[in-house]
Amino acid sequence: MHAVVFEDIVTAADRIACAVNKTPVLTSSALNALTGLDLHFKCENFQRVGAFKMRGAYNALSQFDADQKRHGVVTASSGNHAQAIACSARLLQMPATIVMPADAPVIKIAATKAYGAEVRFYDRYQENRESICDEIAAHSGMTIIPPFNHPHVIAGQGTVALEFMQEVPDLEVICAPLGGGGLLAGTAIAAKALQPDIRVIGCEPLAGNDGQQSFQKGEIVQIDTPKTIADGAQTQALGTLTFDIIRSLVTDVVAVDDPALIQAMQLYAERMKIWVEPTGCLGLGALVSGALQLPAGTRVGVIISGGNVDATRFLQLIQSLR
Ligand SMILES: *Cc1c(COP(=O)(O)O)cnc(C)c1O
Repeated sequence: MHAVVFEDIVTAADRIACAVNKTPVLTSSALNALTGLDLHFKCENFQRVGAFKMRGAYNALSQFDADQKRHGVVTASSGNHAQAIACSARLLQMPATIVMPADAPVIKIAATKAYGAEVRFYDRYQENRESICDEIAAHSGMTIIPPFNHPHVIAGQGTVALEFMQEVPDLEVICAPLGGGGLLAGTAIAAKALQPDIRVIGCEPLAGNDGQQSFQKGEIVQIDTPKTIADGAQTQALGTLTFDIIRSLVTDVVAVDDPALIQAMQLYAERMKIWVEPTGCLGLGALVSGALQLPAGTRVGVIISGGNVDATRFLQLIQSLR
């Protein structure tokens, strides 16, 4: 029995409906021609805060009891989870503290503060963010909501695949980006419950393929913080809960190099006119690079997980390929 079951995802979908966007599913005849596949894209780059993280964050915070709500929430993140927690906390009128590295991008710090959250900086080379989080929780009574290893977070992230498969039945394969595994674990539970023969593929940056190693080895493998442009998947290890689900329900984990991510970013922009952050490109990156090879005509669902990349960075990355 896993920490999350399909019913938790169905309940989460109801619970978060008031706070999240029902994102579109797009297709592209140009990308079908390029890959020889029948591709469907679930566009969480159009989600509130620009990434699917809003789903898990709101699902977790909306289940706080009165006492937890009064004390609020604390988390350590410099990425999309930070903004999702800050936004959810504001909607639910509770205090939030976000522990961020002092050298986090100014734009991300500003976005988090704009939602009304308090930002506590730390030195990423000297201090451990988890212990800072624990300390704040102990002193303030705040509840910690981690970015992936939490049943309510996993259930919330699973609503992406639930919506996707309700809209596009009979997918043969579903691809999800993989960082700490909240999205992939939720995807696997929803997809396998709705369609037991579906193949669920985790797509991870090659430089940070701890998930692939863990999947192959059957135990959680920890690595140093990887150097990759996929900043939403720079995790050092899967979580205990996410790994347990992934090892039993996921078909395979494939690894994608950075140039393939940039190629996918450019394809999304040029062929589909959509703005996708590098981590959000892991699914298409796996297909265009050959990391994931499928028979012609396979009906594939690709989760585009987020769109938060600023224009300067976007252009730099595209130009670096030339
Ligand atoms: C967090 C994130 C991921 C990875 O999700 P996990 O649940 O940590 O595996 C992928 N893409 C984007 C855009 C993210 O923000």
